[in-house]
Amino acid sequence: MINALQSRGLRLADPKAGVESRRGGAGPSDHKAITIGESTVMVPVHTAPAFESPFVIEQPDASGRARIFHDGAAVAEARFPARPRFYDLSTEDGVPYSKIAVLHGRDVLATTVLQTCIRYQSRAKTCRFCAIGQSLAAGRTIERKTPAQLAEVARAAVALDGVKHMVMTTGTPPGDDRGAAILTESAAAVKEAVDLPIQAQCEPPDSDRWFDRMKASGIDTLGMHLEVVSPDVRARIMPGKAEVPLSRYFEAFADAVEVFGRGQVSSYLLAGLGDSVEAILETSERLIALGVYPFVVPFVPISGTPLESHAPPDAAFMHAILGPLSAMPRAGGLTAETIKAGCGRCGACSALSTYERSAR
Ligand code: SF4
Repeated sequence: MINALQSRGLRLADPKAGVESRRGGAGPSDHKAITIGESTVMVPVHTAPAFESPFVIEQPDASGRARIFHDGAAVAEARFPARPRFYDLSTEDGVPYSKIAVLHGRDVLATTVLQTCIRYQSRAKTCRFCAIGQSLAAGRTIERKTPAQLAEVARAAVALDGVKHMVMTTGTPPGDDRGAAILTESAAAVKEAVDLPIQAQCEPPDSDRWFDRMKASGIDTLGMHLEVVSPDVRARIMPGKAEVPLSRYFEAFADAVEVFGRGQVSSYLLAGLGDSVEAILETSERLIALGVYPFVVPFVPISGTPLESHAPPDAAFMHAILGPLSAMPRAGGLTAETIKAGCGRCGACSALSTYERSAR
């Protein structure tokens, strides 16, 4: 069901239902969070396939409950998470908190610390799935979130909405640290303000000493995202980022696990962009052997990106990966629940954690 919803998307009978959708940004986007049973999942609602989806969710009642229909028949009941209270606040200098960080899934505070990227400046280099500049251009966020702003919003999101962990991602700035420096200063400020587990996400920095500095600043877990894995797919989908060879990622994974611990380093793998089932499973196996959690998510075509017309993977393709993958992390001593912070712990962008639960 979750695979099918994430593949086909969801039409909204009431476009205003639920928390404001996540549009644009650095990661998978154009989603809305809904909770089905125990699982909160991000489901595409603003993508081209979603507008044609056979799944429709009715207008929610006063408590946020609504039924999902497939070709006219009710197939599930869902809940929309309540609008976070911190969205009503602004900084003293008038920046709405929601332009600094947003709620992801059920209880994750997420921010893109730097909303620009060296790879986004040219069509020839940009990752073709990425929309990091779109929410900035649309005025939904600000370019650089200062450590003080992040600390202020994190404190409020914990106090008012009970967020449990935080994801800090970043566009890649010029320089050898690849974003590690701004993540380090941001995490230090947040940790001083509030006790909140933090995942930082960046490309592998050129020096592995950054891992020690990141850890010392209060970053609990680290995401370094391969996105796609086969050489031809890397060159086609992310021509700039593919200049960093896979061998560098794997060196950095090994060094990061030394610092953060097994299971506290993860990598996003986007399924549906050309990598075969076998390539994704082989890479996942290699990552798990190193102690890195492979967070495999279905690709979502974001409106306005070069891949907006690229079909998302179908449910059968995701099942072919997530079925065999579901038992692999646990066998390697890694589980979503023991990840201290971040996408693997949240799990809302993939059905992987649902598969893991049923594989036990
Ligand atoms: S899995 Fe990561 S990107 Fe997806 S909703 Fe959760 S925190 Fe956000």
